[in-house]
Amino acid sequence: MSSSNDIRATFLEYFARNGHQVVASSPLVPRNDPTLMFANSGMVQFKNVFTGQEKRAYSTATTAQKCVRAGGKHNDLDNVGYTARHHTFFEMLGNFSFGDYFKPQAIEHAWTLLTRDFGLPREKLLVTVYSEDEDAAKLWRDIAGMPDSRIIRIPTSDNFWRMGDTGPCGPCSEIFYDHGDSIPGGPPGSPDEDGDRFIEIWNLVFMQFLEEPAGTRNPLPRPSIDTGMGLERFAAILQGKHDNYDTDTLRALILASAEATGQDPDGPFRSSHRVVADHLRAGTFLIADGVLPSNEGRGYVLRRILRRAMRHAHMMGARDPLLHRLVPALVRQMGAAYPEIVRAEALVIETLRLEETRFRSLLDRGLHLLADETARLGQGATLPGDIAFRLYDTYGFPLDLTQDALREQGRAVDLDGFNAAMAEQKKRARAAWAGTGEAATETVWFDLKETLGATDFLGYATETAEAEI
Ligand code: ATP
Ligand code: MG
Ligand code: MG
Ligand code: MG
Repeated sequence: MSSSNDIRATFLEYFARNGHQVVASSPLVPRNDPTLMFANSGMVQFKNVFTGQEKRAYSTATTAQKCVRAGGKHNDLDNVGYTARHHTFFEMLGNFSFGDYFKPQAIEHAWTLLTRDFGLPREKLLVTVYSEDEDAAKLWRDIAGMPDSRIIRIPTSDNFWRMGDTGPCGPCSEIFYDHGDSIPGGPPGSPDEDGDRFIEIWNLVFMQFLEEPAGTRNPLPRPSIDTGMGLERFAAILQGKHDNYDTDTLRALILASAEATGQDPDGPFRSSHRVVADHLRAGTFLIADGVLPSNEGRGYVLRRILRRAMRHAHMMGARDPLLHRLVPALVRQMGAAYPEIVRAEALVIETLRLEETRFRSLLDRGLHLLADETARLGQGATLPGDIAFRLYDTYGFPLDLTQDALREQGRAVDLDGFNAAMAEQKKRARAAWAGTGEAATETVWFDLKETLGATDFLGYATETAEAEI
């Protein structure tokens, strides 16, 4: 069986052998890019190379990139623990051509690597192409011998990639793996495509046009390639599993969580173990890259991830801080590939311990309040927004934590009510400041609250945290 570490190495070696420069993952916090919360794909560190603003000594590259998809435009937080294929933190393997090779070589490399080097059965693979991209469909037929029945034409933006409102853009082609008819779900483009039978493993983006100004699309003189394959999804296939959480790295973390809580890894707390394993990775890698829990921006996304995991640990019966005890298991799994988590291990443990200690009493009290309130509601009734706001404001429950807790009972939060309560609170805060004659900027107020370290003050960050900052 290939370990995740072997798979990553084999991928990078394949492209290195084929002339690509192996480039290290960039940190999760993008440098000089205030528009993006976290690195969420391999191309992020190469944005300026694709647009031509920046030159590199190489024209092709390959990476294993740390990605976080939580809190920003791509937000997979709510999927975690519930789908077989989503994480908040994952690794994206990729190859890139900066005006060097284009579609034929990109398809050829992907196909050779999958079917020859990794030995995947061809009949389990199918591909999507953008409906207007006949080139790509023809190349899949000619190079891979893919029958027409397994080349699916998709007319939506799922298969047309853009860097932003303007800039490079182009069609993409995605490779899917069929895990077999014992698993529910339809092929891409079908009404039940969100099932877990056909899993998207690799996205090949053909940067073919430049859109500038908006609405005018011209061919790029030297088109480029950007690809991304999820290591965890690919490892699942190669390790004979259907579910990412059954692969070596994540399973080891689930077992560590099971041991620390005394709860069967596959018993009633199966989802909770998965959430803990996933969020432990996101938390550790974010802290190692310099993000600390706070009430704003990136720090608040980290706090949301951690508190969500803490609720699951609490449900499993953990009465003392738990997450920090699992860090060594993660460092054992991933420290060789990412030495930054070895260097940061002590800091991560201390940060998690402190954050969990601070949240514990609030969590316990907040969960009691929530239980009392929901007991009063009819079955499936929505939780009033002011209660969700009280949980947020007084007990430090990020909105998504409350939503996650209610999900088990099939309930939702009244979001309009929540937002109204939030707006009301802000208005009061502003009015209070106006009275003092000081500059009533919210920033000052938030900074002050942070400096004072008021443990009960945990609010006001949802908006920044939800938007791309
Ligand atoms: P999906 O449709 O399954 O959510 P996506 O289309 O959002 O995936 P891309 O943006 O195309 O994903 O990213 C390229 C690859 O990265 C995907 O094909 C997949 O293998 C992997 N990937 C994307 N999101 C996640 C995630 N949340 N967890 C694990 N792997 C992911
Ligand atoms: Mg997605
Ligand atoms: Mg997709
Ligand atoms: Mg995709």
